Amino acid sequence: MAEKGKLSKTAKASMALNDTQHHLTQRVCAKCGERINTKDMFPVKVANKGMIYYHKDHYSN
Ligand SMILES: [Zn+2]
Repeated sequence: MAEKGKLSKTAKASMALNDTQHHLTQRVCAKCGERINTKDMFPVKVANKGMIYYHKDHYSN
């Protein structure tokens, strides 16, 4: 029984790994100030500032 519990934990861990594209990053959108999901991140290199980050949707608007 205990082993079955371990198996399901392992399955959850591998699902989490497959889901990395949807994880929030520490980057904050320069327009709205919210943290950005990996899949929504749009990095922009700005002179004198270095890299800043937007949500893809917010950069285009
Ligand atoms: Zn944003």
